[in-house]
Amino acid sequence: MRNAIVEPVRFPFDAVLSSLTVCANLKPSLIIHGGAWNIPDEAVDDCRAGIRRALEAGWKVLSGAGTAMDAIEAAVVILEDDPTFDAGIGSHLNRDGRVQLDAIVMDGATLKAGAVAAVERVRNPIRLARSILEKSEHMMLVAAGAEKFAEENGVPLCAPEELVNERERMAWRRCLEDSHAAEHHVGHEHGTVGAVAIDRHGNLAAGTSTGGTCCKFPGRVGDSPLIGCGCYADAEAGGVSCTGHGEGIMKIVMAKMAIDLLHDQRVLVPHREKGGPLSLAQAVADACIRKLAHRAHTTGGLILLDRDGLPAAAFNTPRMAYGYVQPDASFRIAP
Ligand code: ASP
Repeated sequence: MRNAIVEPVRFPFDAVLSSLTVCANLKPSLIIHGGAWNIPDEAVDDCRAGIRRALEAGWKVLSGAGTAMDAIEAAVVILEDDPTFDAGIGSHLNRDGRVQLDAIVMDGATLKAGAVAAVERVRNPIRLARSILEKSEHMMLVAAGAEKFAEENGVPLCAPEELVNERERMAWRRCLEDSHAAEHHVGHEHGTVGAVAIDRHGNLAAGTSTGGTCCKFPGRVGDSPLIGCGCYADAEAGGVSCTGHGEGIMKIVMAKMAIDLLHDQRVLVPHREKGGPLSLAQAVADACIRKLAHRAHTTGGLILLDRDGLPAAAFNTPRMAYGYVQPDASFRIAP
């Protein structure tokens, strides 16, 4: 159980929360991703189609009465159900040939997260993550405990084999036969998914879902479900979802780094000096990826919305699958 919060600590939190709950009729925003990796030419169309369908699902929610949390759940479920991506069905197999899934959602008003790791019987772990956020006093449940929570709270379970597809089974066999040689991972390395949304009431939510890395050690958990690493949302700054080499992203706590930089306008100064773009959101995304390369010596990407709904994306892989809704409600999709 938590200790009671003592008076001197409580005051600023009360002030912040009351100022966050009064906004209404803002313009909604949505950005989603399907992983940063060396997406081969032949996979580009599938990635774009999946991103489009997820944007449509999330935007339908935001255009109606739905909340930011409803929108990111709707978008991520589409991507989890699409075998193109490394989340839900079609996820990479671990060293034992099993799928182990991780996911997180976070609410920008309360800073409450719900996260799951290493679940093997949940088709849509983003739904389970949301259920934990809304119904549990805890923020993260793993493996059998997370599946027990799913059973007790009406989140459907599936057979572990339902999450395995033939493409990943074959890739896993090739890896086993040849000590996980790097060339066997080309073309199916990454594809984590995520979304960030702001609804018309000013609620901000972010989420990330993944099957993790190919041939990972059983029980390995990457950045994706860890608050501040694979995802963060703070209505005072913005929301972030990350993708890429989890062990590197964890080193720099990349999602929280982005949020802290959004709070700190000084990140704009070097951009101004170089005559670069003045979008704080883009400057922050770029700075995070520079840090990932420079301090963790690895690759990845992130998407973010600042608290006003301005989108940004950055990556240091050959491509990243992502898309966002532009001010005229048209979709911008990459690659
Ligand atoms: N970040 C994920 C992980 O390390 C993988 C990815 O985003 O592609 O589990």
